[in-house]
Amino acid sequence: MLPELSKLISLQELDLEIKGLVQCQHELPQTMRELEAQLAEMQARAAEKLQELEETKKQHRQLQQEMDMLDEGITRSRQRLMEIKDNIEYKAMLKEIAFKEDRKDQKETEILEISEQEDALTAELASLQEEINVRQANLEKLQAEVAAELAEQEAKINELQSQRQQIQKNIPAPLLKRYDFIREKRQGIAVAEVRQGVCQACHMNLPPQKFIELQMDQELMTCPHCQRIIYFVPLEENGGANPAEAA
Ligand SMILES: [Zn+2]
Repeated sequence: MLPELSKLISLQELDLEIKGLVQCQHELPQTMRELEAQLAEMQARAAEKLQELEETKKQHRQLQQEMDMLDEGITRSRQRLMEIKDNIEYKAMLKEIAFKEDRKDQKETEILEISEQEDALTAELASLQEEINVRQANLEKLQAEVAAELAEQEAKINELQSQRQQIQKNIPAPLLKRYDFIREKRQGIAVAEVRQGVCQACHMNLPPQKFIELQMDQELMTCPHCQRIIYFVPLEENGGANPAEAA
């Protein structure tokens, strides 16, 4: 095989590996950000519930105060009842006491309702908080893992980059420029293998004459369909491991 061609193939392998790692580096924090957003949403919901609970407690206290006042009023009225001698006035006072007792009953029902509401909110808030704690712990663990993984990938990328520099040094500048240009235009793949006359990047057939020329390995050639630099690996160099050719 032409020496610069095999260097381009090595370069391509490195570039694909680097591309995969860089993509991974973008995806990892993305997953984490989604989890962070979910947690923030739950925390906002918990804050809302807490406010609702405090509002309910305030209403509860107010109802209790009203109830205490009614109680005092009833006690006072009953004391006065014993001092009344006039029959009409006595009946009026009894009516007033009955009215206050009625209102006290209503208040009691309201207090019962608000207590139930308060209990439900407290339970809801507790389970929400429990879930938040679990998620928070998971997220912190994940953050540490992601940071370690990113550092590892960063080191790997740096290593691959320096390998790339080494190979690059031995490739003529115009060819390297051409390689980079095609790579940019063709989804990161500038060099493609041709198997049984088919370009493995664009899956189109090469004209038979062109395929014969390629196998002669005399000069750099490009795929007439996708313009990538093409190469051919004879069966013996392939180690017979090519399933397409074995079939
Ligand atoms: Zn092609």
